[in-house]
Amino acid sequence: MSEFDAIVVGAGPAGASAASRMASSGLNVLLVERGDPPGSKNVSGGILWGQELSKLYPDWEKSAPLERFISNKVTGFLTDDSYIGIDFRTKKFEKEKTGYSVLRTKLDGWLAKKAKDAGSTVITGITVDGLAWNDKRVVGIKQGNDIITSDLVVLAEGANPRIAIGEGLRPPIGDHDVAIGIKQVVKLSEQVINERFNLRNGAGMAAEFSLGFLKNGVKAGGFLYTNKDTISAGVVIDIAGLRKDNSTYSFNIMDQFVSHPYIAPYLEGGQLQEYSAHLVCEGGIDYVPKLYGNGYMITGDSAGLSFSNGMVIQGMNYAIASGIAAADTAIRCKNSGSYDLDQIAYYDNLMKDSQAIKDMKNFRGISKVTWSPMVHEFIPKFAESVLNGMFYETGEPKKHLMEIALGSLKETGYDRKKLIIEGFRLMRKM
Ligand SMILES: Cc1cc2nc3c(=O)[nH]c(=O)nc-3n(C[C@H](O)[C@H](O)[C@H](O)COP(=O)(O)OP(=O)(O)OC[C@H]3O[C@@H](n4cnc5c(N)ncnc54)[C@H](O)[C@@H]3O)c2cc1C
Repeated sequence: MSEFDAIVVGAGPAGASAASRMASSGLNVLLVERGDPPGSKNVSGGILWGQELSKLYPDWEKSAPLERFISNKVTGFLTDDSYIGIDFRTKKFEKEKTGYSVLRTKLDGWLAKKAKDAGSTVITGITVDGLAWNDKRVVGIKQGNDIITSDLVVLAEGANPRIAIGEGLRPPIGDHDVAIGIKQVVKLSEQVINERFNLRNGAGMAAEFSLGFLKNGVKAGGFLYTNKDTISAGVVIDIAGLRKDNSTYSFNIMDQFVSHPYIAPYLEGGQLQEYSAHLVCEGGIDYVPKLYGNGYMITGDSAGLSFSNGMVIQGMNYAIASGIAAADTAIRCKNSGSYDLDQIAYYDNLMKDSQAIKDMKNFRGISKVTWSPMVHEFIPKFAESVLNGMFYETGEPKKHLMEIALGSLKETGYDRKKLIIEGFRLMRKM
């Protein structure tokens, strides 16, 4: 007989959600987290999009440590000299809240406490080394010389899934499967943030930029999110591009972003509170492994469940959804008294129907667009040139937009054939 019905490895959004759901249905659950306290090892932008947590905690919007609701979404491009952005504000975002800025040190602590309050045993500061097997079936976890047994193991170890890879449950990580994320948290007063970003009544802003000022084929996106009295500023960097250029380091890109002439004023006078780095899953549906096997399920980032199109990153909501689906499968197994493979396969059925897998299938190959020279080189230069052509008063006779655009196109030096192919791909995949 196993010591636990289920052991969950990792108390991020996926693991803590799975543990809470199982424990509140009466399962005997162990949740193991290497960070002490939970969240201390974690990095997210982070905007928690969607309402996944309402499936676990109907009052979550009142009780969770949410920073600000997102009332305006900025998306744009930065070049050496310019900021080109669309700042979308709508009353709809104020009425029906669709995303909240969060800080993982606070959110993960809250999620782990919820899992504990639901009845899970939560151990922190312990890194699980591997899985225990018996006759090709996972029967628990290994830590040092100890084995703890369970009927099911839920792997929720995040974007660097060393156990899943080490145990041969998923392929190793390639350069195109993940990006490097770097983030700063900068402290300013709530009033200063409200004034700088034109916000009030708990409203917040989420901005993403393509960093068109990078050279030598290095590509990265930058983000700026407002919290209550801090700002999260960070970059997400394409590893393949970075590898090709020996002169740029990831921290250089971060420095360039936060010191850009139109980003630095937002952070001016702030005090650096956190500086962290983490992998971001970017591989899309082709990076998602088989989600289950004899005695185990893989959830969240460990399973590569993440979506990014350069204008938004979503992973926390998918992680929570997959944690809930894994928990519902475990509850079903427990109730039926069977942990056979066909029972565990229920998790796969639930996930096939989930927003995460549907989005990822629907946007297969999106990273070819998000990391394309078109998005990172052509569009920023072209847009800057067109806007200069339209708004820079020279005293010369004015030109029609078409004439300006054709001149700008020529100025970028971008190959027209390539432009048509990449432009078509962008329209189709974005
Ligand atoms: C820079 C950046 C910006 C992002 N922005 C956003 C955003 O704005 N919105 C969004 O939705 N998503 C965003 N994401 C993605 C999001 O953070 C992830 O998709 C999400 O955290 C995945 O949750 P998870 O529970 O699967 O994994 P994680 O949150 O990574 O949690 C995994 C947990 O497992 C623990 N762990 C790992 N190995 C072991 C072990 N062997 N033993 C014990 N514990 C272990 C870790 O310490 C960690 O607590 C961003 C990511 C980054 C890096």
